[in-house]
Amino acid sequence: MVTEAKRTKMKIPEKILATIKKEKKMLIAAHINPDGDAIGSSVALSIALESVGKETFVYCRDPVPEFYRFLPKQNIFKTDFKNFLKSEPILILLDCNSPERAALDHYKFRISIVIDHHQSEKKFGDIRWIDRETAATGMMVFYLIKALGIKLTKEIATNLYTAISVDTGTFRYGSSAEVLKICAELVESGAEPNLIAYDLYDTWDRKRFNLLMKALSTLEIKKTVAMMHITKDMFKKTGASFEDTENFSNFPRMIDSVNISALFREVGRDMWKVSLRSKGVFNVAEIAEIYNGGGHKNAAGFRIKGNLKSAKKALLEASQKLKVQVRTKTLKVRSKE
Ligand code: 5GP
Ligand code: MN
Repeated sequence: MVTEAKRTKMKIPEKILATIKKEKKMLIAAHINPDGDAIGSSVALSIALESVGKETFVYCRDPVPEFYRFLPKQNIFKTDFKNFLKSEPILILLDCNSPERAALDHYKFRISIVIDHHQSEKKFGDIRWIDRETAATGMMVFYLIKALGIKLTKEIATNLYTAISVDTGTFRYGSSAEVLKICAELVESGAEPNLIAYDLYDTWDRKRFNLLMKALSTLEIKKTVAMMHITKDMFKKTGASFEDTENFSNFPRMIDSVNISALFREVGRDMWKVSLRSKGVFNVAEIAEIYNGGGHKNAAGFRIKGNLKSAKKALLEASQKLKVQVRTKTLKVRSKE
């Protein structure tokens, strides 16, 4: 049996540990439209590194969504990193693997470290630690913090537990003994599962719920593909924002006949951002990659130009091309991630 310590050592490239130990200043960057994993991982890593005397700047182009503001120290995200860059920090890119995904493609760094678990990969970074089998970047940050000998505080634990919780759909997807063991340790270090679940799922503001109702009312199902959309007008009428739509695409996946669920959000004139969710073997990252997007097997996204009708048609065509979709008639697909 591989012990926790051995597995940790096996997983983390030595170069990451050596570089982080040696360097003093780090720009920690998360992907645009940050989710709980991106936010929790970044904040936890920053708190940990600062506790051992490092200076960090935590960057995300987009604001932390309202419903993640319960996270301790989430307000450390800032965008004006120009001054910090003068001190030549290294880059630690979290929960994504290309500078474009973090809106950092116009900047150069002395050393770039990539820590990510996405299926879609770009060749970027001097030190790359990409583990597609890992359920959340938060798990990788957990191992990293432990390997650096840094104590887990309640603040770190709450951020990491939330990160892992969000990326596993609160232990419904990609969960394993390893995930639960890490989370047990985070709970021992102060994370409160009941409170975090409450903060994540039972505190929606009414605007967000109104937008969900509007989105659900657009549901159409073609064979096994469910599609919903949100227009700019719907955002305006409800007063809800783009980030409020996180995980709306999950809802139609609850229907037994649905294998793939897609949410189209109008982000510009004839421009749509598509969020995909799927069950088990249906690999939506493959669909997203066709349109220059990416993600995971069961959660991915891309942007597409055109009117709503043509965008939906493009998605349906791409889903039909998924080999497994064509072969599998039965809809009861059990996930074995
Ligand atoms: P969401 O649907 O929640 O926006 O994203 C689901 C997953 O797909 C997340 O892991 C997210 O990082 C990834 N993703 C969403 N949109 C894009 C995209 O345009 N490009 C890439 N590479 N990944 C995306
Ligand atoms: Mn993630």
